[in-house]
Amino acid sequence: MKAEIISVGTELILGNILNTNTYYLSKRLWEIGIEVLYHTSIKDEPKFLEEALNIALGRADLLIFTGGLGPTSDDMTKEVICKTLGIDMELNKEAEKDIKDYFYSLNRPMSGNNIKQAYLPKGAQYLINEIGTAPGVYIENSGKKIIMLPGPPKEMKLMFNKYVIPLIKQDYIIKVQTINTIGIGESSLETILMDLTSSKNPTIATYPKEGQVDIKLVAKGYDEDKVDCLLKEMKERISGRISEYIYSYKDEKIEEVIVNKLKRKKLKIAICESCTGGLITSKLTKIPGVSEVLERGIVTYSNKSKVEEVNVNKTTLDKYGAVSEEVALEMAQGILEKAGVDIAVSTTGIAGPTGGSNKKPIGLVYIGIATRNSSYAIKSIFKGDRESIQKRAALKVFDELRKIL
Ligand code: ATP
Ligand code: MG
Repeated sequence: MKAEIISVGTELILGNILNTNTYYLSKRLWEIGIEVLYHTSIKDEPKFLEEALNIALGRADLLIFTGGLGPTSDDMTKEVICKTLGIDMELNKEAEKDIKDYFYSLNRPMSGNNIKQAYLPKGAQYLINEIGTAPGVYIENSGKKIIMLPGPPKEMKLMFNKYVIPLIKQDYIIKVQTINTIGIGESSLETILMDLTSSKNPTIATYPKEGQVDIKLVAKGYDEDKVDCLLKEMKERISGRISEYIYSYKDEKIEEVIVNKLKRKKLKIAICESCTGGLITSKLTKIPGVSEVLERGIVTYSNKSKVEEVNVNKTTLDKYGAVSEEVALEMAQGILEKAGVDIAVSTTGIAGPTGGSNKKPIGLVYIGIATRNSSYAIKSIFKGDRESIQKRAALKVFDELRKIL
């Protein structure tokens, strides 16, 4: 089944709001094996709606409209579709009752034009909107399935999942297996996987993010076991070649993996940040349940704070400078002692855009790692602007933690 999503709303065209409905629906349809061929966004005007409907009927089997089902005069999705297809509208008693009940439950008077919302195409299936007033509509017309859903994303999502999916579900299955990698660039990955990337089922695609690449395998078929098997085989072939760069198969963030590893091993961590300014700690604190493993995270930006907070030697600072292997090490060892944790990490570097020199260029970052048994520092030079350098330094810390954990 080929689908087209048609978003109705002038505010989408003007760039006032982001069309999140299309994004969400495409993702969900794809997950249930329905291929979305087109996205159309149009103004709230009858001529555009009529035109979009006719075009979509010529190229798709499933048409999903969102928006324009409200009570006001600019809401005319249902009306224009009915007029174009030559279907009459009639009052749907059930929808009328639900709208009245909705207002009653809010203890608000219902305005006269809300009744307009209860008029549905003759023969249509009424899709209940439990959290709003605009009813959804499902019609079948000369072999095509046409669905109308309200624009507010919350209402649209709830109705799509509860009522639309059972109406359009089919036997064809599409499954996705993600492989999350870190520490290897997209081009190197492609070279290593060259002979596999032409595979048709599953297909293999790489999605680079800052400092990371996700590999997505997509397998299709009618038999779930076969689809699972195709994915499993390809997953094993790929991991056989690049295992050292893979940190997850669950489409998760590297920091989630770190937190889970720390939890499993019952280890506590502390972070002492300079050039990353709290980014590492901030990323960790976004993971629920991190308090079990994160003892503290502090930002020691000045030399004075490095001495006062984590006992870096003033002589080390004077001799090697704040951005040095020695200081990174002392920061990590200092916070390890002070916090009494099992693992400590530090960062010190030059994020730019000024402050670089020949000896210490912009992007130079030292990462210190200290545990109860050993400590070491690693030197990296990252490219990019200030924000990228900070992000890459944080990722490098997580990558290093992954390796030692
Ligand atoms: P209502 O009863 O609220 O009028 P409706 O079906 O008429 O419902 P719209 O008027 O088109 O829907 O949109 C209602 C709200 O939903 C607006 O705030 C709009 O910005 C938002 N919205 C509409 N379409 C989208 C979309 N594609 N993505 C994200 N938000 C949307
Ligand atoms: Mg509206």
